[in-house]
Formats: sequence, C-alpha cells, structure tokens
Amino acid sequence: ELSERLSLISRYLPEETVFADIGSDHAYLPVSFCLEHPKTRAIAGEVNQGPFNSAQKVIEQYGMEERVTVRLGDGLEVLQKDEVSEVVIAGMGGPLIASILENGKEKLSGVHRLLLQPNVHSVVVRGWLEENGFFLVEEEIIEENGHIYEVLIADRYAEETLYSDENKETELWLGPLLMKRKNSSFIKKWERQLDNNRRIQRQLEQSSTPQMRKKQEIEKEIDILKEVLYSEN
Ligand code: SAM
Repeated sequence: ELSERLSLISRYLPEETVFADIGSDHAYLPVSFCLEHPKTRAIAGEVNQGPFNSAQKVIEQYGMEERVTVRLGDGLEVLQKDEVSEVVIAGMGGPLIASILENGKEKLSGVHRLLLQPNVHSVVVRGWLEENGFFLVEEEIIEENGHIYEVLIADRYAEETLYSDENKETELWLGPLLMKRKNSSFIKKWERQLDNNRRIQRQLEQSSTPQMRKKQEIEKEIDILKEVLYSEN
C-alpha cells in the first residue's frame, strides 16, 4: 500500500508513459504505478548501494523486472537524453532537488513534466523552475504521520504563469495556488512558522547584540504570514 504522499504524486503521471523516479529508495512509487498501469515503464535512480539493493528486491518481489529498471548513479546521470517524459524527485530537501535538476539540465530536454516533493524549502524549487523554463501548473499540500508535505507539478509548456507581478516573491515562498486555497495543512504549516518567528523575534529583542538585519527579516516574514493567513481573499 503506497503512502498517501506517494500516491498523491502519482496521480499527476499520465497512465501510459515512461518516467523516472530519482532517489527512489525502495522503488515503491514506480513499482506500484506500473502494477496499476500495464502500459507504463519506469526507471528508478539511486545514488546509494543500500537503497539500490532494496529497489532491486522490491522490483523482483512484484515481478516487475520487465518494466521497472533501477540504475545506480547520481541524480539525472542515470538517464539517457529523451528516455523519459516525466521525472519524479520526492522526499528530499528543496535545495537537493534543485541541485539534481541543475546538474542534470541537459537530460531534461525531452521531459514534459516534473513531479517534485520537497520536504523543506520548496521556495528553492519554485525558483529553479522559474529560471529554467518550467511552468508550475499544480501544487498540493498534505499532512501524513504528523509531517506536512508539498507537491509541485511543473510542465515544460503551459498557457500562463501562476505568478503575479506584484506578489511574486511571496508566491515563490508560500506557493501561488497553496496560498490562495489555504487548506488546513497550509494553515497549520505556516502558523507553526509564524509561532516560530515570533519566538525568534522575542529572543532578538532580549539579546544584547543587536542583529538588525535578522530582526527585519523575521518581522517581514511575520507581516507576510499574518496577511496571508488572516486576510479574506
Ligand atoms: N523518493 C522516495 C520517497 O519519496 O519516499 C525516497 C526518499 S529518500 C528520503 C531519499 C532517497 O534519495 C535516498 O534513498 C537517497 O539515497 C536518494 N538520493 C539522495 N541524493 C540522491 C542523488 N543525488 N541521486 C539519486 N538518489 C539520491
């Protein structure tokens, strides 16, 4: 049984395709998706031997050797050019996801869709997408086992950008769709951050060494979060 997080991601894959799952660990996502969709094939990438072996085991256990292949290597280097149409990268920090994309840019020319699930700092991923010609088309935020996860779907082609001119910086940080929809997971995540920032603000006020820049940054975040969380839109 696939976790809610991984099954949410796979909902954004086409039913008939060849896709990659980079940093696949046990290869649960590609194996499960290919079991459900007999015309689909997948490549699982793993940089570490342990997870690579686990992936191989799961693939064999489900008899999916014909359609799911695991390859040992760093990021997108395991892929040939134009081999896959979609790339999934899930369960890592935003900066690591962005660096995998950046280092493997030349492998992305034939890729139509990126399905990314940064555990933290999704702002870095949104920024990379903006700078590299991918359009954010859908975003999700869910809570599972006490963790809050964001899922970002980006396409090579899209009708229009989700970002506004006036508020782009905030939208890159909080997510243009997520901050509009403000579901309960979104509110929980950013109320936590707001509490955290208020605590840091109090500490900075009591500190003997003035840290003006840090204080201004924290206060700016507090203002934005209050505005987004508690305004009617
Ligand atoms: N994608 C799965 C998920 O979301 O449940 C597994 C996430 S697991 C926390 C992260 C995996 O990414 C680990 O198995 C790790 O070995 C792998 N990994 C980290 N950096 C990588 C890289 N540069 N290239 C390929 N795999 C990487």
